[in-house]
Amino acid sequence: MGDTSHETGTDPIVVALGGNTLLGAHGLGSIDEQLEIIARTARQIAGAIQAGYDVVLTHGNGPQVGNLLLQQEGVSETPELPLDVLVAETQAQIGYLLQQALDNELTDSPDFITVVTQVIVDPDDPAFQHPTKPIGPFYTESEAAEKSFETRRVATGDRPYRRVVPSPEPVELVEGEELTRLVERGNLVITAGGGGIPVVRDGALRGVEAVVDKDKASQLLASELDADTLVILTDVEFAYVNYDTPDQRPLCRLSPEELRAHLDAGEFGEGSMQPKVEACVRFIEQSGERAVITSPEYLMDALAGETGTQVRA
Ligand code: ADP
Ligand code: MG
Repeated sequence: MGDTSHETGTDPIVVALGGNTLLGAHGLGSIDEQLEIIARTARQIAGAIQAGYDVVLTHGNGPQVGNLLLQQEGVSETPELPLDVLVAETQAQIGYLLQQALDNELTDSPDFITVVTQVIVDPDDPAFQHPTKPIGPFYTESEAAEKSFETRRVATGDRPYRRVVPSPEPVELVEGEELTRLVERGNLVITAGGGGIPVVRDGALRGVEAVVDKDKASQLLASELDADTLVILTDVEFAYVNYDTPDQRPLCRLSPEELRAHLDAGEFGEGSMQPKVEACVRFIEQSGERAVITSPEYLMDALAGETGTQVRA
């Protein structure tokens, strides 16, 4: 380990990065656009590390894994790979870009390492019969109707459709204990990317075709690591009630019970804000101290408790 002010032995914080903190418009930005956005996000994360937080990073992969699937379906010369293998590819792809950007920001800290992570799911999870996880590009209604894969209306505007795949509940991180040891030793880790590679354990481990929700997997990781804070970074400063209406109101400080009441009232978008809110509620219920939803530019203010949706017992 290099020369560092990074302390070991304190409780880590898990920071989950949403697609918009990594990618250009609608997941179709050029590599230069991606590098610029990732560099901006890395600067915010680096600020937290320099302020003394032990950060463990996770990230989503919806746009990237959907793009990979389309790329391989577009060629006939090479064999198709199953979705679990593509999730693994995106863990390396995004992990690489993030760790490079962070290492460039944090020349005095230890280097970030990306850990390929499998996550156990239940083979009988009803999600396998009801694909809900949007991946890849957005389509118009007529484009979507012509696709050979399942699509769903997941947004508003002229291109509201996306491919959807099953998104079972994450049950356990296969490498959970090893990750705990790495973090306790003071390593800066990027893990559980894309929600983890979905696998079932039936005698042996076996990959399954799905994409786990990264917010739920991040909660599992944060609880497993005994993190005191779970921060979910996305493209809105707060979770809101009456979202996108004239009565929109930010949720600032609230208890998990209050947040659950808003969840039950259907205040949060399915597959977008809802899994974040659920992850926050579960994290506090499983003995986490604090869960926060905000956007990267407010990370430091949110860690200071000054903005973002702050959930505490
Ligand atoms: P990420 O890639 O960070 O997971 P998502 O698109 O899945 O981002 O989730 C963030 C989006 O959730 C916001 O851009 C917003 O459009 C949507 N959303 C739905 N309901 C709400 C709400 N009640 N408050 C805030 N954002 C909401
Ligand atoms: Mg999301």
